[in-house]
Amino acid sequence: MIIMGHDEIKFKLSPNLWFFISHLSQKENIRLVFRRDQTYKHLVESLGIPHTEVALIKVNSTPSNLSVISSPGDEVEIYSHFDQEDCERQHITNPKFIVDLHLGKLAIQLRLLGFDVNYGLYTEDADLARCSAEEGRILLTRDRRLLMRSIVKSGYCVRSLNPWDQVLEVVNRYRLRTDFDPFGRCIKCNSPLRTVSKESILDRLEPLTIQYFNEFQECTSCKQIYWKGSHFRAICEGFSSMGEVLKP
Ligand SMILES: [Zn+2]
Repeated sequence: MIIMGHDEIKFKLSPNLWFFISHLSQKENIRLVFRRDQTYKHLVESLGIPHTEVALIKVNSTPSNLSVISSPGDEVEIYSHFDQEDCERQHITNPKFIVDLHLGKLAIQLRLLGFDVNYGLYTEDADLARCSAEEGRILLTRDRRLLMRSIVKSGYCVRSLNPWDQVLEVVNRYRLRTDFDPFGRCIKCNSPLRTVSKESILDRLEPLTIQYFNEFQECTSCKQIYWKGSHFRAICEGFSSMGEVLKP
């Protein structure tokens, strides 16, 4: 029998959060020395886990929240959004994202799927966090410190370095499979696309494009023209490689 010290708090972490504690040899049961006036948010983030990754916290078997001040001797269970059996992952209607500068391919691919993605407007962490909070955008980044800012209410720490795997992570995390609207949005400026007749844009098309394609869309803002050419085939191949089928 292990008797905890009076100045300790014991954490039991879901394996879905072990990604964040690769530096610790002990993963499942972690003991932290208690200091007064620290919230669970502070303690969880001292382990390297951003508060945005925590779906549910139980203190001494009772559901609690991260803003509660910890008490010596507490036994704390921390669950991830990926723990379906313990936490319902909420499906968000019309999700909007803000993606940090290091994840450009992820941003483009989410736009290709039709999602509203703010990308490239801000370079400073404070601006990314503020935009996320003010516009209700989910902040996607690999920067844990950025997600630990209290102002960020909704965000996800992207695990993989592979852009296709990153898309799959985000799709799974936010249950986006029923929200795809391929080519509904301009990948350059994020504005919605509209269908245009071939005749109305003939002077802007190359001869081979005129010969082989009949359906076109135009960005409502920057006027970029889109058609189901090589770009479309590339994204179809990308999605079939991760088990998704995108119908032309
Ligand atoms: Zn555009």
